[in-house]
Amino acid sequence: MTLSLGIDFGTSGARGVVIDQQGGIVCAMRHHWHVGTIDWVKCWTEALWSLLAQIPGVFRQEIGTIAINGTSSTILLTDDSGKPVDAPLLYNDGRGAMALERLSRIAPLNHTVLSATSSLTKLLWMQELPSFVNARYLMHQADWLGFLLHGRLGISDYHNALKLGYDVEKLQYPEWLERLQIPLNLPQVFPPGIPIGELLPQIAAEFGFKAHCLVVAGTTDSIAAFLASGAKFPGEAVTSLGSTLVLKLLSRHRIEDARYGIYSHRLGDLWLTGGASNTGGAVLKHFFNDLELVQLSTKIDPTQASMLDYYPLLKPGDRFPINDPQLLPKLEPRPDQPHDFLHGLLESMAKIESRGYELLQNLGADPLTHIYTAGGGAANCTWTAIRQRYLKVPIVLSKNTEAAYGTALLAMEGIKSARTTENTEEGG
Ligand code: ADP
Repeated sequence: MTLSLGIDFGTSGARGVVIDQQGGIVCAMRHHWHVGTIDWVKCWTEALWSLLAQIPGVFRQEIGTIAINGTSSTILLTDDSGKPVDAPLLYNDGRGAMALERLSRIAPLNHTVLSATSSLTKLLWMQELPSFVNARYLMHQADWLGFLLHGRLGISDYHNALKLGYDVEKLQYPEWLERLQIPLNLPQVFPPGIPIGELLPQIAAEFGFKAHCLVVAGTTDSIAAFLASGAKFPGEAVTSLGSTLVLKLLSRHRIEDARYGIYSHRLGDLWLTGGASNTGGAVLKHFFNDLELVQLSTKIDPTQASMLDYYPLLKPGDRFPINDPQLLPKLEPRPDQPHDFLHGLLESMAKIESRGYELLQNLGADPLTHIYTAGGGAANCTWTAIRQRYLKVPIVLSKNTEAAYGTALLAMEGIKSARTTENTEEGG
């Protein structure tokens, strides 16, 4: 029996899932951290060791591959021994905004890196900090956690490296990025799931992992959540009904349009196209608690369209599918009955979702065939029935939605590619 371990470093904690070769879950672990944490490096390190320690010993000995995902654009600088020289910059840290002007003079118009929170913008901002003189490597969160396991510095994957400006089509850093002359080692970029190195012997011995357990190149948390759904064919999509509404559609064609916040991640020979709207569960949560959402939803007749035409936002501005930073929330008129109000909200979000998929397809993505649903809103059958009226393709409940599970599947791919390499070496 060979097992695979996927580790997810999300926004509120870390999770781990161990799967067998059929994708069955063998065990799951979690570690919450304190949201107001100051020392992220310490916090992540503790979380990593805690997850490993939670795996029952009998399974640890059977784990053949490990993969880690981190939050996209969470980065840190290290010295040449891998020690962080300053605090990491988290995914949502917008302090880099002041470096945007410099970057916009060099990066192509509308490029994905041209956002206050992209890894490259953050790096340019960090370049001005006193600690930068000690920096030798830029690492994403997943790269650094991977380094703690395999000991190799300066390694990344092309999911994490997208927002650093890496050209995922040509598989190289673009010439314009070299012109920035950033005086440190940018990571060498590998396909997610490719074996990087064996688990360090001291860690294998300490935790009782088998010798030659492989650590593979990782991914980001949102791609891991997509992988968890099991979607793998062009036309298959995953809608995440979490705090925000995020759409991802697998396609043979790459789509980039920064005007709508649309970009594509590479997924083997395919492209994962997508966009995110500011509408979503956070708006629902503002008006209703989870129990009210369940109870009021049962009072809605989903076969009847609500006449309320909202654009549910908590503050002005959306990027996808309507790109207007001043777009005003539309939450009026407010009916007397709370379930009518909820009906209007769910109906309006379904329309935005449908418009989003239309936009992706109009820009060249493959026609939609199936939609898997993830996030807190996925369990709401009333909402699914409303969405069904607009989306016109089967809405499939994902059996697994956890990023850690998707990352475990990626680790399982690592077993296959290690075997292919072995066979090629034996054969050749
Ligand atoms: P996050 O993006 O923060 O990880 P989750 O996937 O945990 O979000 O989903 C949380 C959201 O799901 C909340 O904003 C909440 O309003 C919404 N939610 C929870 N229960 C329901 C429900 N029954 N129907 C619709 N939305 C729900």
